[in-house]
Amino acid sequence: MVVGGAGYIGSHTVRLLQSRSVPCVVFDNLSTGHRQAIPDDVPFVQADLADREAIGRALQEHKIQSVIHFAAKCYVGESVTEPSKYYRENVFNTWNLLEEMRTHNVMRIVFSSTCATYGNPVQVPMDESHPQKPINPYGHTKLHMEHMMGDYSTAYGLSYAALRYFNAAGAASGGCLGEHHEPETHLIPLVLQVALGQREFISIFGDDYETPDGTCIRDYIHVDDLGDAHLRALCQLEAGAQELHVNLGTGTGFSVKELIEMAREVTGHAIPARMGERRDGDPPQLVSGGTRALDLLGWKPEKAALKRILEDAWSFHRKHPGGYE
Ligand code: UDP
Repeated sequence: MVVGGAGYIGSHTVRLLQSRSVPCVVFDNLSTGHRQAIPDDVPFVQADLADREAIGRALQEHKIQSVIHFAAKCYVGESVTEPSKYYRENVFNTWNLLEEMRTHNVMRIVFSSTCATYGNPVQVPMDESHPQKPINPYGHTKLHMEHMMGDYSTAYGLSYAALRYFNAAGAASGGCLGEHHEPETHLIPLVLQVALGQREFISIFGDDYETPDGTCIRDYIHVDDLGDAHLRALCQLEAGAQELHVNLGTGTGFSVKELIEMAREVTGHAIPARMGERRDGDPPQLVSGGTRALDLLGWKPEKAALKRILEDAWSFHRKHPGGYE
């Protein structure tokens, strides 16, 4: 069961599961996901993780063996002003899911964690042994989710994979699926909306960071590569792995300015940029390190080049200038 399978990373993973003939069911409340992103022939349960009865029913009726869990609130800025929503949706609703899984003896879960659980880097790149000291409520809630799974693993034998994403980006090639959030806060879709003429300019959130050009550095990872890693993690759990904590990134960082420049090249548009204030909760650099994903999952990103990521994102935005609507 793919929880949050109508969302950005979830829908790409569902497509991958389908292409590999792995049967799946999508469970999503469509609060931020899109019905159009789920193929018609994939069973769809529209329900909320607050509704334990609905979770239990879905697990039972569809004879679920494993769960991939994407459903969560994921805006750093919003988490700072509305932490209550983040604790409810990310922590409490995940507890609901785990309780129903336990009741129905579904004991495998792969879930979306994040590099935001590390907080400010004490070294860059950051491997999985980096201290986990989140600096915003979003990161706190994801770390609580990791701890919850770890405790359920010890006490009840749950096997789980916590996949710590760096910056999910890009889109399925061909432009059929992509990134569409309401409101949009992520850098790449915003930059592409400027290229489409839907916004006048892109604001750069601070150029006084301790980085070579002063703007924040992030490790952008293609959404299809993320999907592939989920399937590999699931195979490892099925083969007997109990707990996996794995970074998913390319190991290469790009600054906000470098990304905008690359987007100008890919789109052929000027993309005006204006300097703005720092955004609360943004660490200066987040770049993935270590070789655990390769060692444990045999995974390495196939679509790692930022140019490729931007080209695929651009195909979706050109094809769907209004998103999925
Ligand atoms: N960013 C920016 N302008 C924007 C949106 C984002 O300069 O309009 C920066 C942000 O400060 C961060 C990087 O772009 O350094 C990536 O931000 P995004 O929200 O895409 O992902 P996050 O790193 O927060 O997960």
